[in-house]
Amino acid sequence: MLKKILLLIMVFSTLFCLNFNIVFAYEFINPDNEGLVYDKINEIYDAKDQYEDLAGDYEEVTVINANNFAYWWPVGSEETFEKNGKLYATGDPMSTTVTSTFGGRDDPHGSGASDTHYGLDIGNGGHSAGEVNVIATKSGEVVYPINPSQTSYQDTSNRYDGGGYGNYVKIKHSDGTYTLYGHLAQNSIRVFAGEVVEQGQVIGKMGTSGNSTGVHLHFEIRVGADSSRNAVDPTKYVDSENPRPLISDGSNFSINTTTLSKDEFVSKMNDYCDRSGKKGFCSTFKENAEEIYDVSVANNINPELVVVTAGAEQNWSLSSACSYTNNYWGIGINNGEGCNSGGKYSSLKEGIIAYSNLLSEYGVGGKYEGAITSRYNERESAGCGIEGHGLPGSLTGMQSMYSWLGNYRYNPGNWGLGGCSYLNVMYGDSYCSTKVTCDDYDNCPQESKTTVCEQNDYTAWQVQTKLQIRYDIFGL
Ligand SMILES: [Zn+2]
Repeated sequence: MLKKILLLIMVFSTLFCLNFNIVFAYEFINPDNEGLVYDKINEIYDAKDQYEDLAGDYEEVTVINANNFAYWWPVGSEETFEKNGKLYATGDPMSTTVTSTFGGRDDPHGSGASDTHYGLDIGNGGHSAGEVNVIATKSGEVVYPINPSQTSYQDTSNRYDGGGYGNYVKIKHSDGTYTLYGHLAQNSIRVFAGEVVEQGQVIGKMGTSGNSTGVHLHFEIRVGADSSRNAVDPTKYVDSENPRPLISDGSNFSINTTTLSKDEFVSKMNDYCDRSGKKGFCSTFKENAEEIYDVSVANNINPELVVVTAGAEQNWSLSSACSYTNNYWGIGINNGEGCNSGGKYSSLKEGIIAYSNLLSEYGVGGKYEGAITSRYNERESAGCGIEGHGLPGSLTGMQSMYSWLGNYRYNPGNWGLGGCSYLNVMYGDSYCSTKVTCDDYDNCPQESKTTVCEQNDYTAWQVQTKLQIRYDIFGL
């Protein structure tokens, strides 16, 4: 029994990696090497200077290493919902009409000159200024506007007061890209610099402020630096066929079966690895895609789940951390010898079999079937959002067990292992300052516990993260 509990904590604890930025610090065992390395770096910079002198004007090449399917269409649905003071519009977009593409075009103001258009113009779909919801295409930190005075340029007069973009919002994303939303309606902007926004969150309304000839959205994506020189064609980042993956409640993500054939599974893994550049993940999971598929399916486990879980945990390569071979981080297996979520297995195949066995405990007829159903009923009767509870056999049901085990039972109030770390993600950075660590759950004060609906929210967050990764890789 103790072994099982340990195992679950290990599995659970890996889920928190979702929220951590991993920073690699290099330590030089032999201090002499440090000098050597920096000498080499200087040589490279010298060579770059020489190249630039010789080449004169050269075209800058932007290396795109962003996830091309991680962006949503910048226009949201008419229906909105509010959560924790933030407004979301994640349903079907109010407008998907492109009125001007990226790149060269004639000056829309009729001067006859041609100019470069650094973004994509999206039409109003028959709506007036202030009616169409503009959403954050990806989560990030708002860097503009700084204050409300920068959102007051009028829609139909003083067009040039705010510069070309008029009232605009700019968001910095964690992968080094920026998105910009221009010509927003006067006083419609509801976010300011320093605010962390989530994908799908309403940031303002479409308008015609600034240098604009009618109600539309000017949308830019900048890669690598915050400059229009770094603008890229947004249509390469937002799939025009499926401008925004509709948020699913996870009920269509079975832990047991896949709709993909083996060929489809393998080719989608190949495509994903070609465009994502995720070397660590791909060296393990793309190279072994056929075996992952075969072993998972033979064990009644959805092979998508194996790679999505690994993708979510960001631990993709064979780990040497425990001096084990075939210690596949991210697969979430443990043989009871510790060493985080890894397990000691002689091959990837063995690891996947063990992982499959573990997952089957969360399915229909599995060890946790009753407990998952209880979580479902508990959250249902508490009136929590449907996206955070699911039945046995579903991804949501499985994650609901994790969030209950971790947050409710084992580590209430603990920052590192479950009580708090996700609450900051859900409710803002300072949320957890009111929580205290408490070893004895039954005698803990309520403020050190996570509530039923907080666990529900955490489940929803985990599920959405995995669904996004599943969409990125498999388009499902
Ligand atoms: Zn434009």
